[in-house]
Amino acid sequence: MKNDQIAECFEQLADLLEIHGANPFRVRAYRNAARTISATADSLSELAATGFDLTELPGIGKDLAHQIQEIVSTGEHAQLEELKTRIPAGVLDMLRIPGVGPKKVSVFFNELHLTSLPELKAAAEAGRLAELRGFGRKTEQSILQNIDAATSAASRISIAEAMAACDVIVSDLSRLPGVTQAVAAGSCRRRRETCGDLDILATSDDPSVPMNSLAKHSLVKEVLQQGDTRQRVRLHSGVEMDLRVVPAESFGAALQYFTGSREHNVVVRGRAKELGLKVNEYGVFRGDLAIAGRTEEDVYAAVGLPWIAPELRENRREFEWADAGCLPELVSLEDIQGDLHLHTTASDGMAGIEEMALAAKARNLRYIAITDHSKRVSMANGLDSDRLRAHWDHIREVRDRVSGIQILCGIECDILEDATLDLPDDVLAEADWVIAVLHYGLRQPRAQIMKRLMCAVTNPHVDIIGHPTGRLVGRREGADVNMLELLRAAADNRVMMEINAHPKRLDLDDISAAAAKDLGIPIVISTDSHSVTGFDVLQFGIGQARRAGLTKDDVANTKPLKEFLTLLKSD
Ligand SMILES: [Zn+2]
Ligand SMILES: [Zn+2]
Repeated sequence: MKNDQIAECFEQLADLLEIHGANPFRVRAYRNAARTISATADSLSELAATGFDLTELPGIGKDLAHQIQEIVSTGEHAQLEELKTRIPAGVLDMLRIPGVGPKKVSVFFNELHLTSLPELKAAAEAGRLAELRGFGRKTEQSILQNIDAATSAASRISIAEAMAACDVIVSDLSRLPGVTQAVAAGSCRRRRETCGDLDILATSDDPSVPMNSLAKHSLVKEVLQQGDTRQRVRLHSGVEMDLRVVPAESFGAALQYFTGSREHNVVVRGRAKELGLKVNEYGVFRGDLAIAGRTEEDVYAAVGLPWIAPELRENRREFEWADAGCLPELVSLEDIQGDLHLHTTASDGMAGIEEMALAAKARNLRYIAITDHSKRVSMANGLDSDRLRAHWDHIREVRDRVSGIQILCGIECDILEDATLDLPDDVLAEADWVIAVLHYGLRQPRAQIMKRLMCAVTNPHVDIIGHPTGRLVGRREGADVNMLELLRAAADNRVMMEINAHPKRLDLDDISAAAAKDLGIPIVISTDSHSVTGFDVLQFGIGQARRAGLTKDDVANTKPLKEFLTLLKSD
């Protein structure tokens, strides 16, 4: 079991306890424990198995240690399961509405007895929320505005959750005797930001082998449908997964078919038809004769196309590129040399400068920028000019002491609501690297949002706009940014654009990142790490970049530091 899964248990427990009206200190203890656990680099289930005393971890007392033991040894938490039976899953879905936390949900559930998003919507439409104590028309309106997005988000999981589940199941199925291939297909393979359900393909002499194994898998809650070669299951997380067992000679065709997207496959089938062929999940056929199907490459070749990377299969520009012979060679995880957005204990990070530097070095990164928050983010202990200068002094000391990785003195500087920057120009001028970001006032009108972004882009010291829209995937819409106007200004002013790799952000999105590339804007894929495990999210940023069609050359932090620095406007 991964640390993130244990942390998720405690997060859920905290949410449910809070909805249930439990003691706030208990709730906070679980939230702190979740934070500690996901920031711990070593696997807790391995530590627990070797008899390590878990109370040595910060914030983990005897009671919590005992509960962690329970989770890693049984895969469950008895109290969490018990609370889940008392509070329907639909109640937790309400937490997906922006601005709605456990306290509000508790009132909806305990006072109005609402148990799902549709019931909440009906109550809001009937004006029943505004009558509650502590609520008003404004809250009710905001809930109504956001409830549809929350409803569709509730049925999808993040790419991080999707990949974690698929990776475990694929590797377990691959090890079974007689199973020759097992892979994830569908939107997970295309690295969409969120996935509605999961698809696994396998080849095996005996389809019952992988199917019996999946039915008993620790991630699987129940089997929903069982056929000879197809099985549908529901995972404990609620998401549904399809396993299809196909013959080896159809594996490529099935992989192509079930990877999608539907729009992409419509074009592939149309091209086949023009050639007098038929493509389906079993193969490519001329009449009754199968002419391809064993590999995806064969399937594409049979219809006159080169193999197209899954991330590009959305019927956007991939066919135009394929026809012109210029499909981009997409950036990969191994290309990344530096991480230019990370936090330390100087603001809201969990590790010190040296610890973060060593963790980055252990992941083969050659350079990092330490970019803690500026003072506006007071709840994250943001830095004012004096503290920032002292922090940079510490960074320089570490830089002199630690070899094998270069460290830039950076800052994540807020762009304030009044369209000024949170730190004076003379301080920003001393930084090696300045990220400007919107954190507050995201609901301001477009004109003011653009005024703020323009103030940042035209500032001589700002190098990049971080998480440019401020959106949170499935939870919060971004600011009303005129993206094309922002990108044009960035191009004119030599300002870079970030793809924030955190699966909750993935900001820029794929479409905007492709537009940035078209304008020649260097893109930086950053993890925004707040702990030594934060670097894990880089793969999701890479997925997003690949969906945008970015090559190694389009991504500035694939370059050696010296070359990277020549791209800065302050260079
Ligand atoms: Zn930020
Ligand atoms: Zn940050």
